[in-house]
Amino acid sequence: MSSLFPTYARWDLTIEEAEGAWVKDANGKEYLDFVSGIAVCSLGHRFGPVQKALSEQLEKVWHVSNLFGNQLQEEAASLLTKNSFADAVFFCNSGAEANEAAIKLAKKHTGKGTVVTFKQSFHGRTFAAMGATGQEKVRSGFGEMLPSFEYLPYNDEEALMELQGDHYAAIMLEVVQGEGGVIPGTAAFLKRVGEACKRLGCLLIVDEVQTGIGRTGTLFAHEGLLSPDIATSAKGLGNGFPVGAMLGTKELISSFQAGSHGSTFGGNYLAMAAVKAVLETVLGDGFLEKVRHMGEYLRRVLEKELDGHPMLEEIRGRGMMIGIVWKEPAGERIKEMRDNGLLVLPAGEHVIRLLPPINCTEEECRKAASIIKKVLGTRSKTMV
Ligand SMILES: *Cc1c(COP(=O)(O)O)cnc(C)c1O
Repeated sequence: MSSLFPTYARWDLTIEEAEGAWVKDANGKEYLDFVSGIAVCSLGHRFGPVQKALSEQLEKVWHVSNLFGNQLQEEAASLLTKNSFADAVFFCNSGAEANEAAIKLAKKHTGKGTVVTFKQSFHGRTFAAMGATGQEKVRSGFGEMLPSFEYLPYNDEEALMELQGDHYAAIMLEVVQGEGGVIPGTAAFLKRVGEACKRLGCLLIVDEVQTGIGRTGTLFAHEGLLSPDIATSAKGLGNGFPVGAMLGTKELISSFQAGSHGSTFGGNYLAMAAVKAVLETVLGDGFLEKVRHMGEYLRRVLEKELDGHPMLEEIRGRGMMIGIVWKEPAGERIKEMRDNGLLVLPAGEHVIRLLPPINCTEEECRKAASIIKKVLGTRSKTMV
C-alpha cells in the first residue's frame, strides 16, 4: 500500500534521468518530454545556467528568512519590474500562493469583496485560489468559498458588458486558459476585460502562472493585450526550483505593509538564484524571438501532419502552449503517444496539450509531430 494520500491519478511511469527535452524511465526507455513538468522546466531539464547558479549558491547560503536583507531577491525582482508593467514583486513558493497574495492585495487595496473569474479557469488548490477556479469539480466538497467569486463565461464579451456594481475587488483571468483546454482569450474579449475593470473601479489580476516567463513567446502573455494591476507567476519561473511571484503596480505598494503578508520560504537564496538565471536567459538577446519562431514552427508541422484528419477539431494556443482539440476523448491517444516515446498532457477531456521546453529544437518538434501523426493517424477503437 502507498504511504501517500491518493491525490493524483499517476501515470504508470517513473523517470530516473532527465536532460533538455528528454527523460529516461527506470527501464532505460527514452521519451521526448513535451510536458516539461507541467510548463515548469521550460528551459529543459537540468538547464545548464540554472544548474550552475544553484550549485554556486549551494556553496554560499541557502536560507536565512525574510528577517534579513536579501540582495538576490532585489536583483530577481528588478529583472521582473524592469521588463514588465510592474513596480514591485512579492516572492512565494507556488502558483496558488501567488494567487492568494494577489487576491489578498486586491481586497485590501479596494476594500471590496467580490472577485470575478471565468468558467473552466484554473487558479490553484488553496482556499482562495480554489474559489477563484471556475470548475465545479475542483471546488466540490469544500463548502463555501472565500472571498465570494462570480464566474463568467470566457471569451463572452456581452457577459462582461452586463457586469455592474461597486462591490468588485478584481477581475482575474488567464490570458490563455491552460488546464481548462488551452483556450486563448480573443483580443476583443481581453479589451472588454480592461474596459470592465475601469467601469467597475476594480483591479485586473492576470494569472500568468502557466503562460508567463516566455511560454507564449513574450515574457508575459498579456503584453500588448492587457494592462494588469497585478500578475502572478510560478511554474516556469524557477525551471524546476519551486518559486512563485506576485507582481504589482506602484499604486498598490502601500497597501501591503510589514505584517500584511509573508512567507517563511518565499524568495530564499536558492530560489532567487534559479529565478535570476531563468530570467537572464529568457530576457537574453533574441531568445524570445526564437521561442516565437519555434512556436510557429511546431504549429506548422502539426498542421501539416494532421491536415484533413476527420477527428481534428482545431489546433489552438499561443507560442509553445498548444492544444490539439480532438473530436473524441483524447485520454487513450495520450497514453499511446507515451508508449511511442512522447510525453504530452490532457487539458479537459478532448484536448491534447503540448508544453515543450520553449528552447527545444526544430528536430524535436518534428519528432513530436511525427509520433502524434503516427498515433492519431491510426483509427481509434471507438471510431468505427
Ligand atoms: C498550475 C496553475 C496554478 C497553480 O499553481 P501551483 O503551483 O500548482 O499552486 C495556478 N494558475 C494557473 C493558471 C496554473 O496553470
